[in-house]
Amino acid sequence: PNVVNKIAAGEIIVAPVHALKELIENAVDAGSTSLEILAKDGGLKLLQITDNGCGIQKEDLAILCERHTTSKITTFEDLSSIATYGFRGEALASISHIAHLTVTTKTKDSDLAWRATYQDGKLAPAKQGQSAEPKGVAGRPGTQITVEDLFYNIKARRKAFRSFPDEFNKIIDMVGRYAVHCKGVGFTCKKAGESSTSLSIQAQATVIDRIRQIHGSSVANELLNFETSEDRWGFKAEGYTTNANYSVKKTTLLLFINHRCVESTHIKKAIEQTYSTFLPKQGHPFVYLSLEIDPARVDVNVHPTKREVHFLNEDEIIQAICEHIETKLAAVDK
Ligand code: ADP
Ligand code: MG
Repeated sequence: PNVVNKIAAGEIIVAPVHALKELIENAVDAGSTSLEILAKDGGLKLLQITDNGCGIQKEDLAILCERHTTSKITTFEDLSSIATYGFRGEALASISHIAHLTVTTKTKDSDLAWRATYQDGKLAPAKQGQSAEPKGVAGRPGTQITVEDLFYNIKARRKAFRSFPDEFNKIIDMVGRYAVHCKGVGFTCKKAGESSTSLSIQAQATVIDRIRQIHGSSVANELLNFETSEDRWGFKAEGYTTNANYSVKKTTLLLFINHRCVESTHIKKAIEQTYSTFLPKQGHPFVYLSLEIDPARVDVNVHPTKREVHFLNEDEIIQAICEHIETKLAAVDK
């Protein structure tokens, strides 16, 4: 069964950035206002994320990495209305099968922080001869997740990573996406051993400030704010999009559906189409779109490796959003 788990986990987490995405979502779900991310060797040697969220109770540590351990579904009905998708109580379990996982956590009611180490879904001793039981340590409220030696037991996968900088760039890109989206949350990201941070966003920064710091003033100075919703399709969309003064060779689309960073070829194509009458021939926009859809309408059963998301009335919803953006663009154009 461990081989099966290892293969399943390796399918879900193909690169360090996939593990990091899950850890960021967990930290944000825990109500954190500060996320500190550290990576070594493109996240393969070390990925560490420290948050100041609600923490995990000591009693929950023993089963934390069992598949389907989740505090986010409490009743069967929740399953159809769950706002998260892709993984349901599988991220930490998966990581524990393909890396060395250490969790240090403190709730605000606990005097001590507790540190637990996991292997293959279960508590394991941090060092040979030691107890596998969680250990009381000093610490601040919140949770620190440390993932070391990712894919240590899948040699072929590990070898496939030729460039640490490429993997780190994927990490920075993902952190940057969440840093734009998560209002009220501060982010830092750096390479282990380096004093300078690669990304640093204050908790109180506005969305435009976030975009300015991550993507530059040339984008931030040309943004249009948009917001639209339609009850009959059960959606609400908002975000920022560049006007016709801004144009680059490649579209940047920061897409969030129900606060999860996802991809949608349909949405991307439709947006590019919308811009084609406003921009020069090879020109493309920058778009940050946060879409909230009744969770019951989002396909929660997509395979985790598929980052593409689908939802009911996709065509109608995309059309409504693009028409709204088109109106905004046209109003500035005049
Ligand atoms: P899911 O997020 O789908 O519930 P995970 O495997 O990602 O599954 O996490 C399992 C559980 O561990 C979560 O439901 C949550 O209760 C707890 N947890 C994970 N990370 C954190 C964190 N950073 N802060 C507080 N609780 C956490
Ligand atoms: Mg999770």
